[in-house]
Amino acid sequence: MVDRGFALESRLHQREANDLKRTLSPVDSVSERGYFAETSGGDLPVLESEEALVFASNNYLGLTDDQRVQDAARQAAATVGTGSAASRLVTGDTLVHHDLERLLAETKRTDRALTFSSGYAANVGTITALDPDVIFSDELNHASIVDAVRLTDAEVVIYDHCDADDLRAKMTERAEPAEPNGSDDPADESWLVVTDSVFSMDGTVAPLEAICRAAEEVGAWVMVDEAHATGLYADGGGIVQSESLEDRVHVQMGTLSKALASQGGYVAGSDALIELLINEARPFVYSTGLSPPAAASASEALHIARYGDVRERLWENVAHLRDGLEALDLEVLGESQVLPVIIGDRRDALDLAAGLRERGIVAPAIRPPTVPEGTSRIRIAPSASHDEADIVDCLESFQIVGEKVGLL
Ligand code: PMP
Repeated sequence: MVDRGFALESRLHQREANDLKRTLSPVDSVSERGYFAETSGGDLPVLESEEALVFASNNYLGLTDDQRVQDAARQAAATVGTGSAASRLVTGDTLVHHDLERLLAETKRTDRALTFSSGYAANVGTITALDPDVIFSDELNHASIVDAVRLTDAEVVIYDHCDADDLRAKMTERAEPAEPNGSDDPADESWLVVTDSVFSMDGTVAPLEAICRAAEEVGAWVMVDEAHATGLYADGGGIVQSESLEDRVHVQMGTLSKALASQGGYVAGSDALIELLINEARPFVYSTGLSPPAAASASEALHIARYGDVRERLWENVAHLRDGLEALDLEVLGESQVLPVIIGDRRDALDLAAGLRERGIVAPAIRPPTVPEGTSRIRIAPSASHDEADIVDCLESFQIVGEKVGLL
């Protein structure tokens, strides 16, 4: 069986032998959850301002205004400080970071997790630290993955969007030795397949099980960016959790800045992976640790996503909106909480977005070059904090403005 993995343990042993291994200082468990005093709950916030309903943000669970999340940030600022003031490896490591990382590892069902100052930094730090020989990347992967890949010396193979068969064909082709009996045997290389799970402009969901199967056939590792899925699926996890793929996906990455209502990124995986990142992920080593209020508010939001009913409310809103938009004969892409309404022409999309805005609905037009020519769209992303009346308001506005600009 070919193994194109990354042999992290032996890399770490080598570091240890050379006395180079860094560690985070051990922190006792935060048994009293001091920074996260339970609150009485309270009403869900209204996301929207008085004059507008926002249907375009990544605040999918509506938690940026949640009293409990805000209290967690306030308490962390008051008790731990507003900033980490140094790299985690110097003096920036706090109990709040460890509490969040424990909850992330529990949610992602991995040995451990590590936070970064952004999701962008998490992708750059992880991909450059792994330093693969070959990277197979979905053609629509996020810019932070694209940039991370550019910073490596890897050979890059782009496969068709969400197409596991194309991925398999490209891996099979690449697995042929360049020269029979030649010294460059691809079986000696480390291979990484990397994909977003939910694609934010198309709402598509990567076929992760099929991708894992294809990768396993050639011994490659799989890394999944769950930025737009974290907190929304099984027990507050992402697509990896909803498909029970924790043991087949080697690197689960995500951000704290969308459903988790905060700022920062994370990677969850094996003990060896996290040790490697602590030692070699430059945006972790050489950047100031996540701020304590950001870590504490993400923890509280994740706690709410795991144990509250907020996810159900989001998915009810998604179903209601999708049904209503399709009843208007609009083409709605995707299979996730992101509902791209395809308009086609960029001018039409702009007119529709402007008309919606006049009626107090914020849902911008997404145009080329962000999306291919002829597929301009309105990207609708409902939030758990929208109520029934908000959804009805959005649908009515689509109908009225759509008719006015001649699209319906
Ligand atoms: N990955 C994906 C798929 C994203 O959409 C984003 C943010 N737009 C990121 C990574 C980067 O996350 P952050 O904003 O936390 O840097």
